[in-house]
Amino acid sequence: MRLILLGPPGAGKGTQAKRLEERYGVVQIATGDMLRSEVKSGSAIGREAKAIMERGELVPDSILIGMLSARVKAPDVARGFILDGFPRTVPQAQALDGMLADQALPLDQVIELKVDDAALVDRIAGRLTCAKCGEGFHDRFKAPKVAGVCDVCGSTDFVRRADDRAETVAARLDAYHRQTAPLLPHYAAQGKLQQVDGMAEMDEVTRQLAALLDRKAV
Ligand code: AMP
Repeated sequence: MRLILLGPPGAGKGTQAKRLEERYGVVQIATGDMLRSEVKSGSAIGREAKAIMERGELVPDSILIGMLSARVKAPDVARGFILDGFPRTVPQAQALDGMLADQALPLDQVIELKVDDAALVDRIAGRLTCAKCGEGFHDRFKAPKVAGVCDVCGSTDFVRRADDRAETVAARLDAYHRQTAPLLPHYAAQGKLQQVDGMAEMDEVTRQLAALLDRKAV
């Protein structure tokens, strides 16, 4: 399975990609996570990306295309992948088309998670993640069962992303509408684009995604 999940920040791409990764045994490739680990390690890429990410803008295409082309060649990607956060610009999509064509690995589907802008700020501004196991939570929509304690591993250490502040979210949404939304017609023209209602309950979104993916697999 080779799938792209498209949609604005906060649409649920990461949450759903993790669920699909388990269900179908393919790897999630999340360029935002890859960049955050570059920032954490203080690498040259991380040093260049940090301030850009904190402003809610997009990191240059050349960096992302280089990172992704190396990642898709790794052995764990052989069974397929779910791209979460890439491509985000038309040049990235064109580069991806070229990479996959070179390796004779066609994309199966591109699924857009559709969510109203008004819901996104609320969704993003309340996000927190367990610092130990990475489980995602939300102050209002998915609070830990015991306040301050991770449901999965019991850790009391949580982190919030620097770019999830309300003022940065507006810039991220703006980048989505200006630079990423043009990918929708790009993939529609290839006959690959489908849509799922990202406003539905999390489990319902997973069900709808699986229905599309299973239909394609038959
Ligand atoms: P995400 O975790 O997908 O929301 O990404 C967090 C931030 O990383 C974005 O706001 C961008 O600054 C940067 N980023 C992630 N993926 C890309 C990409 N494909 N192109 C450019 N910037 C990216």
